Amino acid sequence: MTLLVDLAVSDRRIHSGGWRTPAQAGDIEDLEPATGRVLATVGLATAEDVDHAVTLATAAQSAWAATAPAERATVLRRAALVLEEHSAEVVEWLVREGGAIRPKAEHEVRSALDELWAAAFLPTLPHGELLPDTPERRSIGRRIPLGVVGVISPWNFPLLLAMRALAPALALGNAVVLKPDPHTPVSGGHVIAALFERAGLPDGLLHVLPGDAGPGRALTVHPDIAMIAFTGSTAVGREVGAAAGGALKRVSLELGGNNAYIVLDDADLDAAASAGAWGSFFHQGQVCMAAGRHIVLASVADAYIDKLVRQAEAMTVGDPWTSDAVLGPLINESQLAKVSENIRATVAAGARIRTGGTCAGLFHRPTVLTGVTPSMPAFTEEIFGPVAPVVVVADEEEAVAVANRTAYGLVAAVRTGSVERGLALADRLATGIVHINGQTIDDNAHVPFGGRGASGNGSRHGARQSQEEYTQWQWLTVRSAALPQPF
Ligand code: NAD
Repeated sequence: MTLLVDLAVSDRRIHSGGWRTPAQAGDIEDLEPATGRVLATVGLATAEDVDHAVTLATAAQSAWAATAPAERATVLRRAALVLEEHSAEVVEWLVREGGAIRPKAEHEVRSALDELWAAAFLPTLPHGELLPDTPERRSIGRRIPLGVVGVISPWNFPLLLAMRALAPALALGNAVVLKPDPHTPVSGGHVIAALFERAGLPDGLLHVLPGDAGPGRALTVHPDIAMIAFTGSTAVGREVGAAAGGALKRVSLELGGNNAYIVLDDADLDAAASAGAWGSFFHQGQVCMAAGRHIVLASVADAYIDKLVRQAEAMTVGDPWTSDAVLGPLINESQLAKVSENIRATVAAGARIRTGGTCAGLFHRPTVLTGVTPSMPAFTEEIFGPVAPVVVVADEEEAVAVANRTAYGLVAAVRTGSVERGLALADRLATGIVHINGQTIDDNAHVPFGGRGASGNGSRHGARQSQEEYTQWQWLTVRSAALPQPF
C-alpha cells in the first residue's frame, strides 16, 4: 500500500492547486516532541499564499455547489474510506508529531471518520421551505453555501478539529482554505490534503496552508472569505472575532475552557477519582474539555484526594511511540513553561503539591494540587497541562457558585449517587455541555458542541447544526408571468 503522505512530494511545500513551493519559500522543521527528532520539513504559507488560495477557491466553488448532492456525498464517503485504509499511518503521525498516546490517536482517527460519515449525510438533507404566498408566485426559503470558508485549527486534536469544520463545509458546497497549526502540520494538514486528493475532490476546493499567526490573520480579514471557523485559545479567538467582525464575516469560535468537575458527597469515590484523573491527565491535560477544577464537597474531600493522588501516582509518563506510557510529552517548551509557572505561582499563593509537579524534558508528571482557592492561578487560568487543582467546598450551593466563578463556559461534570441531584445542578451550571456521572472530555459528530462566554460564541457542530453553520438563507420567489406594475 502506498503511503498517504509522501514526504518526497510534500517536502517544503504547501497544498494549494496541487503541491507547490510557498510564495516566500519558507519552511519549518516538524519536530517529534518526545525525542526532538525532525520528522519532516514543511512549507510555511504567508499572506500571499492565502490570497492565491482564495482566488483559486473562489473560482472552483460555484461549480462544486452546483454538483449533484450524491456526488458531493460520495467524495466525503471516499475520504472516509481512504482514512480507514491509512489509519495506522495517520495514528503514527498523531503519536509522533503530536505526542499523543496510541489510544488517543486511535480515538481521534475514529472521531474524524465519524465527522466524515456525518458530513456525507449533509448534501442530501432537505435544505429549504416552501413559504406561504399568492397563487401566482412561489416563495422559497433555501439554504445556500457561504462561498469560501477559512478554517484555523490548533495542535492538540489536529486532525479532528480541522475535520469537524472542513468536512461539513465542503459537503455543503463551500470551498475551504485550512490553516493548521505549525506544530502539527502533517497530522492536521497534509494528511487531510492527501485524503481529499485521493477521494477525488475537484481541484481548487481545498487548500492546506500550514503557518503561524501571519497567514491566520490574512485569512481572517480576506474580503473573499465568507466565514472563519476558528478553534484555539481565547486570547487569539478574541482577536479573530474582532477582525472577522470588522470584515463583516461569519465567525465560529471554539475556544478555551476551565471546566468544573464536581464531586458530591454521595458519589462513588473510586469511580469519581478514576474519571477525574482521566479528565485532568488525558493527553497531558492539553484538551479544551479537561477537568480544570475539581470541586469537592468537604465531607468526602480527603478520601477523594487520596484516591486521585493514587491514580496520578500509578500513571506512567514516556515516549508514546516506543512505550505504553499513559502520558506522553507536552507539545513544546513554551507550553511546559506555562504549566510550570502556573504551578509555581499557585504554590506561592498557598496551595500544596500532593503529587507530581516535576518534569524531565517535556515529560511532566501528573500533578494534584490541593488547598486551591478561587483567587489562585490554577483556578483562574486554563492550565493546558497535566494538573488537577482541587477546591474544597462546604455544600452544593457553594459548589455551583464556585463552578460558575469563571469567564469560561465549555463543560461541567457532576458525580453523584442521585441522578435527580445531578439534574438539578445541571440546570444551574453556565456551560454549553454538562455530563452527569461522566467526566468532562467527550464529543461526538452528531451532538451540539460548543461553549459560552470565553469558551466561544455558542456555535454548534453536529449534523443539522452544521447545516445552519455552513450555509445561509436565501429567499427566492418565482413567477411564471410578469406582474404588471403601477408605473
Ligand atoms: P492558539 O490560539 O495559539 O492557536 C490556534 C490557531 O490559531 C493556530 O493555527 C495558530 O497558528 C492560529 N493563530 C495564532 N494567532 C493567530 C492570529 N492572530 N490570527 C489568526 N490565527 C492565529 O491555540 P493553541 O495553543 O494552538 O490551542 C490551544 C487552545 O485551543 C486552548 O486554549 C484550548 O482550550 C483551545 N481549544 C478549544 C477547543 C474547542 O473546541 N473549544 C478545542 C481544542 C482546543
